[in-house]
Amino acid sequence: IQADIEQPYEAAELAQTTLDDLEQPFVLEHQEVRLRATIGITLFPEDGDNTEKLLQKAEQTMTLAKSRSRNRYQFYIASVDSEMRRRRELQKHLREALARNELHLVYQPVFDSHTGEPVGAEALLRWTHPTGGQTALLSFIPLAEETGLIVPIGAWVLHRACADAVQWPRPLRVCVNLSAMQLRSRHLVDEVRRVLAVTGLPAARLEFELTETALATEGGLVTETLQGLRALGVGLALDDFGTGFSSLAYLQRFRFDRLKIDRSFVQSLADPAEETPRALVGAILGLADALGLPCTAEGGETTQQRVALTQLGCGSLQGYLLARPMPVAALADLLAQPPGAGQPARPAAPRSPVPAAASA
Ligand code: C2E
Ligand code: CA
Ligand code: CA
Repeated sequence: IQADIEQPYEAAELAQTTLDDLEQPFVLEHQEVRLRATIGITLFPEDGDNTEKLLQKAEQTMTLAKSRSRNRYQFYIASVDSEMRRRRELQKHLREALARNELHLVYQPVFDSHTGEPVGAEALLRWTHPTGGQTALLSFIPLAEETGLIVPIGAWVLHRACADAVQWPRPLRVCVNLSAMQLRSRHLVDEVRRVLAVTGLPAARLEFELTETALATEGGLVTETLQGLRALGVGLALDDFGTGFSSLAYLQRFRFDRLKIDRSFVQSLADPAEETPRALVGAILGLADALGLPCTAEGGETTQQRVALTQLGCGSLQGYLLARPMPVAALADLLAQPPGAGQPARPAAPRSPVPAAASA
């Protein structure tokens, strides 16, 4: 509570100073740590005439601000109320989505950069919302995380992806994204063991993708879980590599089987005259090579990017240029093609900007 202020900007100043102070790195158990925070601000008497109202609105404002981007402050505005209502509504629907079979998976194939052959596919979650179309993931995955719904949903994804992969015409790798909350669950390892047993998928065909955000939780438990997964024989990939605060620190702390170079690096490879992006991607690949880690580059949309990535020595590619995420039946068709048919790999897929005639 900040008393004795004349103007809202004074609250903003205090909030910014607080964020700046919190952001100062410090050392905790030999690790450099930075704190980020999100602050919701309400003003008396404009936003409410009692403590309860003011606190409630400040918290709602913070929640919304946090779901957009972190490390900032936000004043309460009237649209917070309607936005919160919309979120509660969406939450309610999401809770029912599993039971109503509204969730499904699409698969985006990953290709060997030299042969153009598929080497695996990443399972990506989609929700066909009753009130219209496929909901953009970004709006519902964070919501599922905040509400804890990601745990049952994630369990469903895992089961579905393994059961699908067993049916694929070729025994390739299936990649499944894991969220922070799943990783914190004490049951994850048992769950994975059970799903592998029930579906009959060999552990070596399953690879989990973890982001730094997912890993940045209580160290002990996460380490234990990762070791448990590793002991089962499943692979672990570090997703969105290079976008976090301390990607390198994670490489030191945990053992991974693969790096996924983030789309942002790949997209900046568009211009062959630009040297920095090439240098960055080259450095990541050099690092991975030194550590004996294969790399997959995400988000390649142009031939130039593909050529650059292949020249720089990236082993596998995943992106709209080669294939969009597709229903499991389309993936099965793609995998049923005899080896060699995939050069250049460009299967027909929904939403593809490539004319259907271009596929063979
Ligand atoms: P991600 O793990 O980084 O997944 C890759 C995203 O990049 C996918 O978006 C994919 O459709 C998109 N992408 C692939 N190639 C290209 C390209 O060439 N250009 C562009 N612009 N985009 C490309 P999607 O399916 O919307 O997924 C977004 C994020 O949602 C994923 O990012 C992942 O973090 C999360 N997610 C998706 N499915 C699941 C899931 O089953 N569980 C969890 N926990 N998270 C999931
Ligand atoms: Ca991923
Ligand atoms: Ca990624």
